[in-house]
Amino acid sequence: MTLRLAADAAGLARAAELLRDGELVAFATETVYGLGADATNPTAVAAIYAAKGRPRFNPLICHYPSAGAAFAHVAPTPLAERLAAAFWPGPLTLVLPRRPDCPVASLTGAGLDTLAVRVPAHPDALALLAAAARPVAAPSANRSGAVSPTSAAHVLADLEGRIAAVVDSGACAVGVESTVLDASGPIPVLLRPGGITLEALEALAGQVARPETLSGRPRSPGLAGSHYAPSLPVRLQAAEVAATEALLAFGPPPPGAGAVFQLSATGDLREAAARLFDGLRRLDAEGRRLGLAAIAVQAVPERGLGRAINDRLRRAAAPRPRSSGERP
Ligand code: AMP
Ligand code: MG
Repeated sequence: MTLRLAADAAGLARAAELLRDGELVAFATETVYGLGADATNPTAVAAIYAAKGRPRFNPLICHYPSAGAAFAHVAPTPLAERLAAAFWPGPLTLVLPRRPDCPVASLTGAGLDTLAVRVPAHPDALALLAAAARPVAAPSANRSGAVSPTSAAHVLADLEGRIAAVVDSGACAVGVESTVLDASGPIPVLLRPGGITLEALEALAGQVARPETLSGRPRSPGLAGSHYAPSLPVRLQAAEVAATEALLAFGPPPPGAGAVFQLSATGDLREAAARLFDGLRRLDAEGRRLGLAAIAVQAVPERGLGRAINDRLRRAAAPRPRSSGERP
């Protein structure tokens, strides 16, 4: 039984108590719903992997109610401090060296000597983090490999009965995950495009390196392969669509699709990001109900939030792993 908690004072207090007791609680951030656990409790963190059916111990992002709380556990460079001042609270995750006395369980960071930290910009998340009074490790609150959740209903569709509670804060405003930036060195490295655009980061930091331009550097563990995958196959850059396909539209759609979900009729990337995961989930459900063969996706421009949208879409379309614990 998964408790559905209202995002009021009583619900948030109960959620904080569950987190302190080592239970799993899903909660909204401005990006997507996170599956939270006490980051200092390795048993609670291990339960995240079990609930998600995650086959590997990817490092998790630690959430804090303030930059001061985060920087008590990781050591910021001067640039990281400027980035935090500019973008926190908000959808930017900074990877920084753990301090020697950092109480976060090493499982949370998958044994790395760096830790990914973030201050989310959702009032309910900030209230929960302050009440929990400890760092909260939280990947997206979906089964491993599946589409990220942007509503409490999405969370329950994947994790009902597998987690203690979900705090219902309605729909998420940004809709794609945070930008992950390795800020441990002099030149920050973009590990995952997300809610803060590359253009905005470059305006503040000057140069931002992309992992593909660096040789010999390990990529961020969670970056490769299939992810965010609906059960129907996904076809990208669709200029035309068949009657046997569901269409994820961006701007004026080509005619003839078996079902349509419009990301943004006016081509607004912010609106499209906020609707992306809901659209994939809806088309997947409707497509299966109607017996459609695939989801076709119209092209989205590779700029601003379009980079994060395209990153998620490419991985939704990537060849699916067949190993156990991953969705087909
Ligand atoms: P998720 O848990 O799905 O939000 O994904 C978190 C992302 O942050 C993944 O892409 C991880 O690989 C990345 N990440 C977390 N911690 C680190 C770290 N210490 N170094 C590099 N990447 C990290
Ligand atoms: Mg995820």
